[in-house]
Amino acid sequence: MGRIFGTFGVRGVFPDKMNPEFVHKLLRAFGTYLKSKVQRPVVAIGRDTRLSGESLKNAAISALLESGASVVDFGIVPTPAVQFGCRKLNLNGGVVITASHNPPEFNGVKLLEGNGMGLKRENEKIVEDILFEGKFETVSWKDLGKLTQYNIRDEYINEIISKVDKNLISSVKPKILVDMGNGAGSFTLPYILEELGCRVLSVNAHPSGKFSWRSPEPNEENLKSTVEIVKSIDVDFAVAQDGDADRAVFINEKGEFIQGDRTFALAERETLKRKKGTVVTTVATSLVIDDVAKEFGVEVVRTKVGDLVVTGELLKRGGVVGGEENGGVIFPDFVLGRDGAMTTALIVEAFARSGKSFSELLNELPYYHQIKTKIHMEGDRKAVVEKVAELAKEKGYKVETTDGTKIWFEDGWVLIRASGTEPIVRIFAESKKEENTNRYIEIAKELMSSVKIG
Ligand code: MG
Repeated sequence: MGRIFGTFGVRGVFPDKMNPEFVHKLLRAFGTYLKSKVQRPVVAIGRDTRLSGESLKNAAISALLESGASVVDFGIVPTPAVQFGCRKLNLNGGVVITASHNPPEFNGVKLLEGNGMGLKRENEKIVEDILFEGKFETVSWKDLGKLTQYNIRDEYINEIISKVDKNLISSVKPKILVDMGNGAGSFTLPYILEELGCRVLSVNAHPSGKFSWRSPEPNEENLKSTVEIVKSIDVDFAVAQDGDADRAVFINEKGEFIQGDRTFALAERETLKRKKGTVVTTVATSLVIDDVAKEFGVEVVRTKVGDLVVTGELLKRGGVVGGEENGGVIFPDFVLGRDGAMTTALIVEAFARSGKSFSELLNELPYYHQIKTKIHMEGDRKAVVEKVAELAKEKGYKVETTDGTKIWFEDGWVLIRASGTEPIVRIFAESKKEENTNRYIEIAKELMSSVKIG
């Protein structure tokens, strides 16, 4: 019996690992679990734009109805819109058919709690047990669940618009290029920005499910042509989303790709202006998050990497904003998960208020030089990373092991983490000076090689 859930849900290539038969079984298990808690559960379902989505979604709906759960179908919407809908409609759970930023041939299933956050680990375990033991509940013909369609998209759009200063934004009329990555955000973000009074130019916004121009992951490599467009036209900035639109990454007016933690810091500042409170982020995020928190006198709590962990900690501590270095920001008062459109709306407001260019606005934040690299490694990568921690301690370094091995220096840090899915170890470093960041990376690599030899 192995675990089937990854950091958030299950993913795989269609049809090898991810196919209607598997989804049907998984959702029978989820339906059975929900029925054990509530007599007549009601579950939301939504999906991203992948071609396999319709087939998998219908398998999921069939399984839920068969288990006696009723289903509210939101259609093609961002993951955060499903999370928003679960909470808004007071449902018992949710399902998103998506592989987020993975390549087009992938698909997957994210299961949600009734409040919209990702299914808790302990509940995933229950669902897994039901699945592996095949203890599915089937109701009689009289008790089958009902299926209804529901337009959550417009409510989600309107809710975001209501949270920012539309008058201010529409007086500035920012010129924004959106690269929707042909994902579920194609149906939401361009409309939100236009409604706010922005001038919107969209690319990769035809949600055909083929992703013929770029893969759904909005990283620097995949956004090369978007950068070229930004350089050749007059826009204030560009924003790009992943397949299920829970992340947003930005490109400034000069065509420079912005690291996710810098725009997270802008969104953090906008949130703290509205409501002071604890900020939650991971060990892999820039110290710029702490700098912004200091402006408001609030604390920053750091967790292991993963949006579910960050969301859980936000709930536990009553925090007001959380996020990760990959451009995922969480506003728990709105949605209990990352939300790319809400992030963008707040950043647009910050831009409109500043009267500055996007690059100037970002340059107001304290500067850190960052390096993100990886090294190939087969075998027990976690054990190597743990040994690096021991060795670093022996050498007198200040070491933290919340997630991987993090070594602190006077003006920065280096983090060494083993990938759970690929034969690589990631090394992130940052400091105030480029030469120091380089040095921290070298120190990490030296420690790694001494461990391997010894
Ligand atoms: Mg995503």
